Amino acid sequence: MAADCLVVGLGFAGAVVAERLASAGKKVRAIDQRGHLGGNCYDCLDETGILVQKYGPHIFHTDNATVWNYLSQFTEWLPYEHKVQANVGGKKVSLPVNLNSLDQLFSENEAKTIAAKLIETFGPGAKVSIMQLRQSADHDLKKVADEIYQKIFHNYTKKQWGVPPEELDPAIIERVPLWTDRDERYFKDKFQGIPRHGYTKMFERLLGHPNIEVVLNEEFKPANSQDYEQIVYTGPIDDYFNHQHGRLPYRSLSFYFEKIGQPWYQEVAVVNFPGTEGFTRVTEFKHLTGQEHEATAIVREYPEEHLPEKNIPSYPIMNEASRAQYQKYQAEAAKLENVAFVGRLAEFKYYDMDDVVERGLSVARNI
Ligand code: FAD
Ligand code: UDP
Repeated sequence: MAADCLVVGLGFAGAVVAERLASAGKKVRAIDQRGHLGGNCYDCLDETGILVQKYGPHIFHTDNATVWNYLSQFTEWLPYEHKVQANVGGKKVSLPVNLNSLDQLFSENEAKTIAAKLIETFGPGAKVSIMQLRQSADHDLKKVADEIYQKIFHNYTKKQWGVPPEELDPAIIERVPLWTDRDERYFKDKFQGIPRHGYTKMFERLLGHPNIEVVLNEEFKPANSQDYEQIVYTGPIDDYFNHQHGRLPYRSLSFYFEKIGQPWYQEVAVVNFPGTEGFTRVTEFKHLTGQEHEATAIVREYPEEHLPEKNIPSYPIMNEASRAQYQKYQAEAAKLENVAFVGRLAEFKYYDMDDVVERGLSVARNI
């Protein structure tokens, strides 16, 4: 099939644009350098038949009905509301921090006093930034925020990002605020779930359009791209431009999977470890997928430096310098008329899956 468009990368960004262009009548060649679809959302059965997510836990959550309805054409959803605990020196603490977490971290009297003060100051069900609370003029609130920061955020963030929290964009920690209620859900979005038959099956359907030719294990070479009227590139933007403005900084992860010979390992899908252990969190997949099995599978995440020849870029490290560096690449990208840069790597943004789908839909519309 002679294709009109080349889509590079078959994670959410590439798959959504490929599907939209194919449905609009374009012939699409869709390539990925990896041997599977789905990018970082790829899941598969392990050797004992347990469905695992190879690049860490992925929970779909969005307030965007257009995104949810669009994806619902390609999958049914398993209703799932994400629950996370922090293991603070052996004590289970609900995350994001809420009034229950205060009960778990402080004495009964202290927790009661702080809860009353938080509700008086912010109202019930309010979302409060931990970092802003650390600046509070109220001595008690500041003290509590400092303690929560020290116990739950400081080490975890240092491990996750390799730099002290002060050097990071505050928006990163603000992803996990304090809530002045007892809602135990990690995400508050209107739509939440896991594709009922897994992410990979959903990607097979997204990319199953007869106008799409999927080619795996193929790396993009700019030299082979002249034949297309449109290119959609979802790999790292600095790779595309041969790192002419230097390599953009990413954090990477090593995943250690373990099979456990009993039905359950932990109470909730994800337990975070903000202590001195090398890993940040442990995920037990059966909580996410609802799968029944006599055994269970977990994965531990060890954050590490991104070394292009050794591991994959997982998280863009956002700071002033990297933003300025990215803007140079953005300026190069703007000069190219028929290349669209979409997704977490191509736009160097800490996008969640729903943001990427939304971007994909919008880019496809513009094309
Ligand atoms: P990717 O999924 O990274 O896909 C890019 C693809 O491009 C890859 O398959 C890659 O192989 C391919 N590629 C790159 N360069 C080339 C090249 N030169 N030639 C050919 N192919 C190339 N989001 C949520 O909403 N909820 C979550 O619970 C959640 N959990 C996460 C957990 C972890 C550990 C991480 C790292 C991210 C998580 N995310 C989550 C974010 C989510 O993974 C991303 O938003 C989404 O996967 C980004 O999709 P993408 O298509 O932009 O990138
Ligand atoms: N974070 C933390 N402790 C936690 C959970 C989160 O310090 O127990 C910080 C950490 O810096 C992390 C950020 O908050 O990178 C965002 O957390 P989120 O759970 O959104 O991270 P993701 O799931 O994207 O890895």
